[in-house]
Amino acid sequence: MTSGVYPRLGPDERFDRQVDRSGECHLWLNALNNEGYANFWFEGKYIGAHVYAWIRVNGPLAPGQVVRHGPCHTRHCVRIEHLVSGTKGDNNRDRQRDGTQARGSKHHSAVLTEEQVLEGRRLHAIGVPVARIARDFGVNAETLRDAITARKSWKHLNDTLLVCPDAIDPAHLVDP
Ligand SMILES: [Zn+2]
Repeated sequence: MTSGVYPRLGPDERFDRQVDRSGECHLWLNALNNEGYANFWFEGKYIGAHVYAWIRVNGPLAPGQVVRHGPCHTRHCVRIEHLVSGTKGDNNRDRQRDGTQARGSKHHSAVLTEEQVLEGRRLHAIGVPVARIARDFGVNAETLRDAITARKSWKHLNDTLLVCPDAIDPAHLVDP
């Protein structure tokens, strides 16, 4: 390898480095957009990471065709078995189903449990970085940050937990 020059990664390799395949859903580890979708830079523009996951296997989308989440409804899931193609009309119905009808862990696309949100808030309140909490829980950091700080979709949680210094788990305070 020539020193001082980054090897250029192909899109598949770039993509695969940003995916956590340890769970049922294969979750995007990098930033998500405001709607909870992952974006992937491909051929000069951003496309949905789930779209890339689909077209790398099936080839380009036909005009009017979109990639939808099938069984899991997790917007940043890029597992090919969880993706189906469909029309824009199908997709709009999905968005209604996933975006406006549910909240909290009843929401199909939620990857956090209410316990994780409450525990995450507790740890965050005593100064543990969100990224570390997310890693300990094995969840997406952006999703957890939203739940802890912006509290999107989690407003109904009763926030009565008090911070008790005795409850600090020392494991969370030690650098890995
Ligand atoms: Zn999935």
